[in-house]
Amino acid sequence: MPKLIAPPASSFFIRKVMRGNRAMDTRPELEFRSALTRQGLRGYRKYRRDIPGNPDVVYTRHRIAIFLNGCFWHRCPICKIPYPSTNSKYWREKIDRNVKRDRQNYQKLRQLGWRVQVFWECQIQKNVDSCAKKTYKAIWGATK
Ligand SMILES: [Zn+2]
Repeated sequence: MPKLIAPPASSFFIRKVMRGNRAMDTRPELEFRSALTRQGLRGYRKYRRDIPGNPDVVYTRHRIAIFLNGCFWHRCPICKIPYPSTNSKYWREKIDRNVKRDRQNYQKLRQLGWRVQVFWECQIQKNVDSCAKKTYKAIWGATK
């Protein structure tokens, strides 16, 4: 078993994943859901276990599944955080496995007729309202 080292980026999502992805209501999630409410978007469901990938937020009627992804663990294409140099093989395998699983989940969802939205931790931190506006647009076809 490789020794765990502290990940390079400190993040709310890291704690979430280290606890086996079971942590709920992390701060970015709470912020995103408040932003949805500011857009007037209600009626979402959280963490539906019966849907591939257990999306963080789901609008069942509109068949929209939303994932709020941590930049380090899901390998954000915007941040491009490098793999840690210590124990790099371990981290590379672990993170690549997450990315592969994400892709498979999104594909399964699309095959089941879901639309998939992914928001990255950094996007949420930078401008959470613009993320929520994208969800609004996906649901209503236009921004407010
Ligand atoms: Zn990022």
